[in-house]
Amino acid sequence: MIHHFSDTDLRAHFRNLAAETVARRAEGCLKEGRLDRDSWQELSDAGMWRLAVPVEWGGNGGTWWDFVAAFEGIASGGRDIGFCLSMVAQAGLIRSLLIYGDEEQKGYWLPRLLGGDVGATALTETTGGSDVTRIATSATRVEGRYLLTGHKDHITNGPVADVALILGRVPERGEHDITLFMVDLKDRGVQQGPVEDMMGNRTSPTGPIALDSVAVETKNIVGAIGGGIEAIYNTISLDRLLYGVLAAAYLDPLLDEVLDYTSRRHAFKVPIADHQYVQGRITDAKFAIEATRWVSYGALDALMQNSPQASLMCSVAKYHAGETLKLGTETALRVYGHLGYMEGPHARAFRDALGTVIAGGTAEMQRKNVFNQMRRLAISATA
Ligand SMILES: Cc1cc2nc3c(=O)[nH]c(=O)nc-3n(C[C@H](O)[C@H](O)[C@H](O)COP(=O)(O)OP(=O)(O)OC[C@H]3O[C@@H](n4cnc5c(N)ncnc54)[C@H](O)[C@@H]3O)c2cc1C
Repeated sequence: MIHHFSDTDLRAHFRNLAAETVARRAEGCLKEGRLDRDSWQELSDAGMWRLAVPVEWGGNGGTWWDFVAAFEGIASGGRDIGFCLSMVAQAGLIRSLLIYGDEEQKGYWLPRLLGGDVGATALTETTGGSDVTRIATSATRVEGRYLLTGHKDHITNGPVADVALILGRVPERGEHDITLFMVDLKDRGVQQGPVEDMMGNRTSPTGPIALDSVAVETKNIVGAIGGGIEAIYNTISLDRLLYGVLAAAYLDPLLDEVLDYTSRRHAFKVPIADHQYVQGRITDAKFAIEATRWVSYGALDALMQNSPQASLMCSVAKYHAGETLKLGTETALRVYGHLGYMEGPHARAFRDALGTVIAGGTAEMQRKNVFNQMRRLAISATA
């Protein structure tokens, strides 16, 4: 039972658990390019997914702050960015169901996701990811249900997930036709994988989900028909700030490690920690980590309060997340010198970090959203 834990306890509890599970298995999963389902199950059994879910849906009745504390523990103790990306995808899906799902959907899908099933959120197609309105996946109504056909690409957990939230069109609806469908990936007509050969995040299997006339009952449409865009932007908002939480929590222990190394490694008769250029790299990383952490907390607060600033703040958090992960892992790589450049934890972390400037919306798309939101807020302030 974990509901009596404070956030500090939660962080420590999940940090220890992830150190015993995720961190121990990460190397093996990396070699095999697979999601660590054993740790996923153990963390699910420990109540990871229940933290932010109301008691009536099988949760602990906490808030997303509790989830964030536990996630920070997993990011810092597990030492595996890929595993955390897989978690971010699932967290967004759970929040979507909580907000847009009806009673029946929550009653059916949440126990599965809370109990260890793996979820995916599938927007991107070959035609493009930034502009989701270009999607071609579409549903036709036949005898009271929908037949969903399309091809999703680059989907986190796509090759291994049990369930997915899929963005598609309902062309009979006309112009506003983009809609969310919950799909059981064991259903007939679904084909998953193969796993894409990415430069990093290989413990987060990413790849296609092909749908060939998959029967989706009307009851598995999440939110309103045509309401998919608004709902998916809201879902992605949580994902975006979680990248920021991940960046800070993952980099904290890495920077400690780097700091320790700088006092042990000598050059020019002194520890390299005494060289100001080295200090500068470390302090730049620290500035970025703290800014990312606190802007992500601010974004979560804005999201929880339904603040008009929420979308802007979540994009700011996501933007900094990618850049900070890149900077922080590059800092480690540089300070370790040739050792950092050897195939190993530092090179791997840098490759994983690069994926976060694209996954969850590219840096350019965060800029675009921030600018659009600034204009929107300025207009509403003068109205
Ligand atoms: C590790 C990883 C995990 C992923 N997981 C998922 C997932 O779970 N679900 C999912 O649906 N997708 C997922 N994706 C896909 C990801 O969301 C897309 O790759 C991303 O949105 C960019 O889309 P794209 O690759 O098609 O690039 P494009 O949209 O073709 O963009 C190409 C370039 O043009 C820029 N660009 C495009 N439009 C604009 C504009 N208006 N202004 C300025 N610049 C612009 C982009 O920033 C980018 O640099 C994942 C990607 C990665 C790397």
